[in-house]
Amino acid sequence: MKKDKIWLSSPHMGGDEMKYVNKAFDENWIAPLGPNVEAFENELKNFLQEKREVAVLSSGTAAIHLALLRVGVSGGDEVICQSFTFAASANPITYLGAKPIFIDSENETWNICPLTVEKAIKDRLTKGKKPKAILAVHLYGMPYQVDKIQQIAKKYEIPVIEDAAEALGSSFNNRKCGTFGDYAVLSFNGNKIITTGGGGALVCQNKEQKEKVIFYATQARDKAPHYQHSKIGYNYRLSNVSAGIGVGQMQVLEQHVNLRRKMYNFYQELFEEIDGISVFTEPSKDFYSNHWLTAIIIDPEKTGGITKEDLRLAFEKENIESRPLWKPMHLQPVYKNALYYGEAVAENLFAKGLCLPSGSNLTNEDRSRIKKVVLTVFK
Ligand SMILES: *Cc1c(COP(=O)(O)O)cnc(C)c1O
Repeated sequence: MKKDKIWLSSPHMGGDEMKYVNKAFDENWIAPLGPNVEAFENELKNFLQEKREVAVLSSGTAAIHLALLRVGVSGGDEVICQSFTFAASANPITYLGAKPIFIDSENETWNICPLTVEKAIKDRLTKGKKPKAILAVHLYGMPYQVDKIQQIAKKYEIPVIEDAAEALGSSFNNRKCGTFGDYAVLSFNGNKIITTGGGGALVCQNKEQKEKVIFYATQARDKAPHYQHSKIGYNYRLSNVSAGIGVGQMQVLEQHVNLRRKMYNFYQELFEEIDGISVFTEPSKDFYSNHWLTAIIIDPEKTGGITKEDLRLAFEKENIESRPLWKPMHLQPVYKNALYYGEAVAENLFAKGLCLPSGSNLTNEDRSRIKKVVLTVFK
């Protein structure tokens, strides 16, 4: 008999989600607005602990799209974007007819390299092209070099869009990720640290910005008894049913962060004795990762030739999911003509890195199965 699949990151319900979903049904709030939407926004706002306003949306991708729109990105503009990320970070730049300028990672956080960002901005300025925004990502939950990116953004007066889709519960200098950018993006997709079965949010600086975001997310209706439009709008609001799942999930968010970090500790211990493998770790006490996914780098020169692909296939045989790190955007066929600044940091991470099962719902039995595969491959 085939063993149950161990997923990289699967939905993990806390228990009260159905209560709020049922409430939506009982009250017939089956719409992209209602009490669960408001409650979920308030819960998120309280969790972030800063003066911020939150608009929940149909996806993280929609949130990035609206953030770019709101900072004024339009056709022909250039946007600085971390190359080492999921395609959803970059694609909305293309939706708007703008061009991503991809930037390499730095070695400590694997995220956008501040030195390269500044180099790129200077070079674009000499071409008469000032980038319209900087899109930085807290990949796998690891905060990017927040202070350095903020400094550059301030110096050149370029807004920052903070992609915190993977980093709810992470923090930098004791301040929560999702509170640093001019706008910050959250995702509640099925594989994220909490889920609404599909959903996202845009964290805004104030009420006026939030209202504008909701205006665009609900078809840009002008104030009139009939339907009147002077702007192009979108249908991007989160449903009150999905938001009910979100309200339930907020009760277990802290717990999920602790459990993901426990998985990271499990891997640290497991790989401690194995040469040639390093577990992706916070560079200093300023960084606190939710360890959404635990990632490792396997150096075949130190493992006697064993590669990340060998380990991945060994896991696959035991019905355990693992996955290479994100393939950088500047190496993606769809972005082959895009500009790129940097060296080969992200490229090397992609060549040697693997994400491991990291769900908050993994059991002791799951961990035993994972450990057995690792010890067999690296005996
Ligand atoms: C998941 C994710 C997104 C997109 O979120 P969706 O809710 O799936 O649209 C954007 N950026 C990163 C880094 C992500 O991991």
